Amino acid sequence: MVKPDFEKKEIEGEVTITCKVVKTENQNFIQIDLQEPLIIDHLILNVKTKLKFEQKGNVCQIDLEDNKFELNSKFKLHFIYHGKPREAIRAPWDGGWVWSKDKLGRPFVSVACQGLGASSWYPCKDYQGDEPDNGANLTIIVPDSLVAVGNGNLISKVKSQNPKTEQQTTLNTQPQTVYTWYVKNPINNYNIIPSIGNYINISDTFQGEKGILDLNYWVLDYNKEKAEEQFQQVKPMLKAFEYWFGPYPFYEDGYKLVEAPHLGMEHQSAIAYGNNYMNGYRGRDLSGSGWGLKWDFIIIHESGHEWFANSITTKDIADMWVHEGFTNYSEVLFTDFFYGKEAGNDYCYGLRKNIANDKPIIGVYGVNNEGSGDMYYKASNMIHGIRNALNDDEKFRQMLRKMNQVFYHQTVTTQQIEQFLIEETGLDLQKTFDQYLRTTQIPTLEYYFKGRRLFTRFTNCIDDFTMPITILPKAKTITPITKWKKNRLNKKNKEWFTKEHIERLYLLNLVNVPKP
Ligand SMILES: [Zn+2]
Repeated sequence: MVKPDFEKKEIEGEVTITCKVVKTENQNFIQIDLQEPLIIDHLILNVKTKLKFEQKGNVCQIDLEDNKFELNSKFKLHFIYHGKPREAIRAPWDGGWVWSKDKLGRPFVSVACQGLGASSWYPCKDYQGDEPDNGANLTIIVPDSLVAVGNGNLISKVKSQNPKTEQQTTLNTQPQTVYTWYVKNPINNYNIIPSIGNYINISDTFQGEKGILDLNYWVLDYNKEKAEEQFQQVKPMLKAFEYWFGPYPFYEDGYKLVEAPHLGMEHQSAIAYGNNYMNGYRGRDLSGSGWGLKWDFIIIHESGHEWFANSITTKDIADMWVHEGFTNYSEVLFTDFFYGKEAGNDYCYGLRKNIANDKPIIGVYGVNNEGSGDMYYKASNMIHGIRNALNDDEKFRQMLRKMNQVFYHQTVTTQQIEQFLIEETGLDLQKTFDQYLRTTQIPTLEYYFKGRRLFTRFTNCIDDFTMPITILPKAKTITPITKWKKNRLNKKNKEWFTKEHIERLYLLNLVNVPKP
């Protein structure tokens, strides 16, 4: 439960965590995270026992010395807390509460805390590798003039007691309404988010692979018409993504877009939308190819995260390329689905100008460290190269669908995903992953012709780097290595072995060298 004070920018809250005992050693204390300067007032075990605890910096150490639990037993921790949570200055990039006003000066408030962590505003085990297995309830108490939206489905809306009898002039003295939302599926802590504003609801349904999916859009009252127009992109998006990735992963919780006072975020079953009802990324095409202006970046990208981030979640944010690389590639596949393969290729190729090669994509483990921002465009282009190496789009599609079945609602490591892709493609991709995810080098493919024979080798790469290269249209596949290697090409293959063609499909430099 959370009750915001819009004037003081403070919150009062209560959180109940159901814990399951998975081992019996070291039961003396338990750690729960809550970032400064929030204050825990009370902590109660199983509705009756007051527990001793100590808040130190961003953690709360709970003394369990007098309470011993059996293996597999469950207990509940109930926190009552309050304070002034960190305020976001550049949401969604920095994180915290966003206390903004809509165009009519009314409160328009939400939270974004991906990266920063949900413990920036409520007590939780702030670790991506352990999601609440049975979902979560979110109760939001707001003045009557406002509407509060959370994840999943609205299960109750009740008026609370009028707090004061005097004139109802300020938000704090208005009668309050208590909204309770319930999300049934496992959910990342950072995705559990209250959104508060003068919302109206637009509802619709989508006939999808798993049946009827409820669609709900919560938008500011004065944006209703714009939303009705722009959100027509939702059904085509769902159609394309279900085709490539399999059923939307949260039918039970429905699909929602919730207008947000920031650009957007993948809040599970309640995607934050703040792209001003424009196509592109705030009206810009990140690829420069023109295709990025055909659709609304936030609808497509943030919804792609329902499959990659929300259903398949990495245990450590160091592996976040699994979220951002595949979601970035979902933009390519959406473009491909509606505008054709060449359009998708153009879009993907165009994104490369955004690659920085500043540091490896995989970050440092165990210390809440994200790798390079190249987790978006470079990882996506690596996936593009793997798709071309495989040279079988139907097999590629079935692999993505299987990936979403095998890792459905799970937390994973990069090794699990790499191994899965190696097994499913049947290609030796380990060096490809090591090269593109763990170094900043972009390999060079050196080549020269001697008659029909093509000599190739990789340079500027890790030891023993190799990657299959498929040359269209005859679909000849060659697999260069770091030593000179002879390949046979026919005349058609040779015509297609060009810088424009090969570099568009693979993230590498192609250099014609003199015959040694
Ligand atoms: Zn993203």
